[in-house]
Amino acid sequence: MYAVCAPAAAEESGVAGVSCAVSGVGGAGDGCGDGGDASAGSEKTEVVAMTSEMRQSGAEPLRGRAAIREAVERIVGEARVVDMHTHLYPEAFGKLLLYGFDALVTYHYLIAEYFRATRASYESFWSRDRAGQADAIWQALFVERSPISEAARGVLTALQALGLDTTDGKPADFRAHFRSVDVGAHIERVFDAAGVDEVVMTNDPFDDAERPVWMEEGFALTSRFRAALRIDPLLLDWSSSCGRLRVWGYNADALLSETALSEVRRFLDDWIYRTKALYMAVSLPPTWAYPEESPSATLLERCVLPVAQDHGIPFALMIGVQRTVNPGLRLAGDGVGRADVRAVERLCIRHPDVRFMVTMLARENQHELCVAARKLPNLLPFGCWWFLNNPSLIEEITRMRLELLGLTVVPQHSDARVLEQVIYKWKHSRALIGEVLGRKYADLAATGWAVTESAIRSDVERLFSRNFLEFVQ
Ligand SMILES: [Zn+2]
Repeated sequence: MYAVCAPAAAEESGVAGVSCAVSGVGGAGDGCGDGGDASAGSEKTEVVAMTSEMRQSGAEPLRGRAAIREAVERIVGEARVVDMHTHLYPEAFGKLLLYGFDALVTYHYLIAEYFRATRASYESFWSRDRAGQADAIWQALFVERSPISEAARGVLTALQALGLDTTDGKPADFRAHFRSVDVGAHIERVFDAAGVDEVVMTNDPFDDAERPVWMEEGFALTSRFRAALRIDPLLLDWSSSCGRLRVWGYNADALLSETALSEVRRFLDDWIYRTKALYMAVSLPPTWAYPEESPSATLLERCVLPVAQDHGIPFALMIGVQRTVNPGLRLAGDGVGRADVRAVERLCIRHPDVRFMVTMLARENQHELCVAARKLPNLLPFGCWWFLNNPSLIEEITRMRLELLGLTVVPQHSDARVLEQVIYKWKHSRALIGEVLGRKYADLAATGWAVTESAIRSDVERLFSRNFLEFVQ
């Protein structure tokens, strides 16, 4: 019993693959679980036609589970990322760019955890300035108890990666460090530490702090930052947005006349051109329905989707946020609700020429979303969002996606609101994705398939950048 393997024609990726026909049963291993090195010492797969080019290009089949997993984790660790959804900004956006110790520690994830750990009143916390809030959170979550939650550990991962001493760190020392940085150089350093080449922002033309920056004469984005047009106010609050569009010179009306619909399309066109947006996006509550009779559905159907199609850009839906479950927590007070995947299916079926990128907040929606994506080539599931961005869930969701959808997903986005968060979000996620993928390739090798470094590299590049870049083109 042996495998006859020969170099196959290069795939469209340009990577030389190896095709193998296994005769007999058993192949290189039993293919189960994470057990020992199933192929070590085995002669079953040794008949491999190997050329020196294959070795040099990483086309040599890797042997043994341990070697495969080591290679996968190394390659995933080195992969360059295009982070397809963040809330980061370049320097030109001034105060919209959040960075540094106080911003990291007062992130809304940690504010919610602070109120669980203390009996502080909302009023007393919110009346403090940001440094005071950070001090209170640091004391409660990092001094009085161990910071084992994902959000708390993430702060330490980021500080450590920037060379700061986390063994006995003091807020004053951390603040002193961030006060001393040159912001432009710091952005580069953070991106390097995270292995991120580019991030996609969340650009809201209805935001009074953001809009004027785009309108400045000669404004141009730096290469690290790409735009995405976020249109929540347009879709979810037409009665207010309509008035604002009129102020900006668009002939909109509350009743959504044909003229108004045409003017909304012109507004979207203008902003897509202005920002060079890679996609449009909206965040939706778990109750979102499609189709339905509402201004939101009309605007979606008559404006957003035709414009997406015209420009050849996808529409991203982030579904499942239950807004303001606890108003006292402000931004930290949002929750999660299970949404209806049938609505996503109907949307994708009705609009086969529009590409949809979808992430859902409820763990309970993940399996149905994967199954929907199997049926719908214009649906790209992405990321482990917000309350799902935890190791146990990232691992579970990544495994499920790879098993149901192979390599046709975007496994993660950072959703970073504070610059340094990209470091921890990618560092933690890389470790998990590498682990899951390592097991998958080891199981694959157990079938006799030749798993090579060059093939792994190509696959990993798809997951970390190419799937997204090809989807938005
Ligand atoms: Zn977001």
